[in-house]
Amino acid sequence: MYHDVVEDGLFDSSGFPGAHAALYKMERGPFEEHLAAIRKAIHGRAPAGIIDPAAPWPRQWPVFLTFDDGGSSAFSPIACLLEKHGWRGHFFMTTDQIDRPGFLTREQIRGLRMRGHLIGSHSCSHPTRMASCSWDQLLTEWTASRNILEEILSEPVTVASVPGGYYSRKVGEAAATAGLRALFTSEPTTAVERVNGCLVLGRYAVKKGMGPAVSAGLAAGRTFPRLKQEALWKTKKAAKFLGGGAYVRIQKLLLDR
Ligand SMILES: [Zn+2]
Repeated sequence: MYHDVVEDGLFDSSGFPGAHAALYKMERGPFEEHLAAIRKAIHGRAPAGIIDPAAPWPRQWPVFLTFDDGGSSAFSPIACLLEKHGWRGHFFMTTDQIDRPGFLTREQIRGLRMRGHLIGSHSCSHPTRMASCSWDQLLTEWTASRNILEEILSEPVTVASVPGGYYSRKVGEAAATAGLRALFTSEPTTAVERVNGCLVLGRYAVKKGMGPAVSAGLAAGRTFPRLKQEALWKTKKAAKFLGGGAYVRIQKLLLDR
């Protein structure tokens, strides 16, 4: 799970601004190193293009590269750098942000799709705590964002990713009711489940400062980097459960300083 890839340390130039969002962004140079390291680690076994939720369940899931938020860097440089390797990415749009500064335009979204990349929903408004939304809110976030993207692309949009990292079964059920057939969460796990006909897949997050060897290890299925993320996630989840909204506020406060 990647986010934006920026030039010259301009972290606010693409995607959501601010210190917290920047934690998940990378500069172009390190990102290129990541792609090269992933390529080497998986020995030419390509991150297999894009997911087909209708295809039979594979014996082994391929490596998928995903990019959240819909920042303008998806169009350039990310898609171009993936294409150099012959790879395609999953780009998830926060539809309220389309055509706004720092985010993709409708034209660019169409362009990415024409080049073979997958376009999916990342909700309309990017709620900070998706799992705390009411059923009606969840349904609106998924359905409206899906409709907007289908109108832009003139084709069905059935894949999405959960914003903010908060997944619950209700989030998956709402996605399924909204007609989505695959949903990427931020849970660091290779376990895949089906919720009312919608595939739910975990992801391993790549953050600023993470070395290429780590992402290569994650892609190749090495145990240590995966277990490390899983352990950190469980600790964080426990803190969030105990602290509720306070956890998010404190984290933001500390990072924005
Ligand atoms: Zn996001």
